Amino acid sequence: MYSYDNVIGNENIIEHFKNTKQNKKVAHAYLIVGDEGSGKKLLSYSYAKALQCEISTESACHKCESCIQLESSNNPDIKKLHPEKESSIGVEDIRKQINNDIFIKPYSYEYKIYIIENADRMTPQAQNALLKTLEEPPQYAVILLLVNNIDTLLATIISRCIVLNVRAINKLRVEKYLINNMQLPDYKAHFCATFSKGIIGTAIKLASSDDFLLMKDHCVKLVTKLRNLDIYEILNSIKGLEEYKSRINEYLDLILMWYRDVLFLKASKSKELIIFSDEYDLLLIDADKLTYNSINKNIETIEEAKRQLDSNVNYELTLELMFANIKENA
Ligand SMILES: [Zn+2]
Repeated sequence: MYSYDNVIGNENIIEHFKNTKQNKKVAHAYLIVGDEGSGKKLLSYSYAKALQCEISTESACHKCESCIQLESSNNPDIKKLHPEKESSIGVEDIRKQINNDIFIKPYSYEYKIYIIENADRMTPQAQNALLKTLEEPPQYAVILLLVNNIDTLLATIISRCIVLNVRAINKLRVEKYLINNMQLPDYKAHFCATFSKGIIGTAIKLASSDDFLLMKDHCVKLVTKLRNLDIYEILNSIKGLEEYKSRINEYLDLILMWYRDVLFLKASKSKELIIFSDEYDLLLIDADKLTYNSINKNIETIEEAKRQLDSNVNYELTLELMFANIKENA
């Protein structure tokens, strides 16, 4: 259900939203910026719901017709843009669904709200078309633009919007959420919360995916036996990684976190802050065998591999080099 109560963190944005409704100072355009999974959608739809609610003075009552209609995607005055293509939002999408529609007065409620998800996919032409509307919007219009990356938007668009940054949440809060709401055991909650870097949507996705936990086990197995492998066996291991090829970035992040844990454990021997807390004994072996220098080199070599893969350097070659370096550092 779309409700401010279901948003974790980002209290400042909710406060701002509540004030705009209470004081009737709603802007015509909001730019809601945040990583994938950070909760932009929940925030935006909760705001749209609250604005149209005729009973509550600052949020939503969840009972009136408007609130119920929003939950079933049937609110006539809250419109989500449906672009023709999935990969981009074109000028025709904006013309047909916004510019030609926005001057028709709201059907039942106070505002007419448009929600553009993935607004960073708007082509420059689409942005210019939207700009015309943003320059002189009708008094009842509210446009919510959701973006991961603000850099793809024209400065002229940004300057006409109120920009709200959706922030990652403290990892402990994410962890607590996973334990209380998803009944995850402590060490799994800790692991998923840390890996998600405080992005709640990612944490929930990881926590509900068996795949991710299997991948984690796969990674631990590989990384702990690496020093005993010869080059031929390393090549074979890379073939064994084939099933994770599309998620190789996540896989490398796991290896990175492993060596950060090893480093941490070597420095402190404390079990408290490590992420792979269920693999303590294996971490300890690496912490004993590896020098500070070689652990740091491993971390650098994995980060380098991630950069290479980002810039589309040959996949197998990059991994071969990375694993060979890690082996050599041991
Ligand atoms: Zn309501």
